Amino acid sequence: MSNLHILVVEDEDAIREMLVMALEQTFMVSAVGSAEQAIQALAEDRVDLMLLDWMLPSISGIELARRLKKDTAQKDLPIILLTARGEEEDKIRGLEIGADDYVTKPFSPKELIARIKAVLRRSGKLGESGQVTLGDITLDAEQHRLTIAGRSLDVSPTEFRLMQFFMTNPDKVYSRTHLLDQVWGRSVYIEERTVDVHIRRLRKILSEFEREELIQTVRGFGYRFSITG
Ligand code: CA
Repeated sequence: MSNLHILVVEDEDAIREMLVMALEQTFMVSAVGSAEQAIQALAEDRVDLMLLDWMLPSISGIELARRLKKDTAQKDLPIILLTARGEEEDKIRGLEIGADDYVTKPFSPKELIARIKAVLRRSGKLGESGQVTLGDITLDAEQHRLTIAGRSLDVSPTEFRLMQFFMTNPDKVYSRTHLLDQVWGRSVYIEERTVDVHIRRLRKILSEFEREELIQTVRGFGYRFSITG
């Protein structure tokens, strides 16, 4: 099972339960029955992908997707729309507002998992078989293993997630706030200095491999991970 978190948003109990059962062997799964509850769940936890039913009471799935894609903190959240509608026009509408994929009911669990994995791979959250490799550094999310030139690194779960974020988003500068959102989850109240503490620990571990320069401080902004220097 991977440590990727899927949030299922579906108001029909039977379908929601079926989805959870189908996905929980492969992912960490949470499920809610409305858009309002989905917004709440997103504020409380880090979510890697949302499986969103089109037809929901009050705020519809497509309306929620549209709002999230305009929200700076959530715009990169991959969304797969789930619907009974099979019309081409609806599919286009769904993709136009920024949904990453579209699955029509009824679907097989196998197909659904394959589609989820494809979206996670495209968004850089899942490497081939859960692995990300940059140069001689390999991170295996499924086995929770991080190696440099074949040697294992002994890192805490938070530092592992930090490395996972950096390795799937290399060569870009991220602020402490962004790193807190992505690695710790956005609801948790943690001081930005915590990021510095973990970066320092990670650098210390990397320095044993003479690789502390992988994580660069960008003064006045944040951090960048780069294997090219
Ligand atoms: Ca529904």
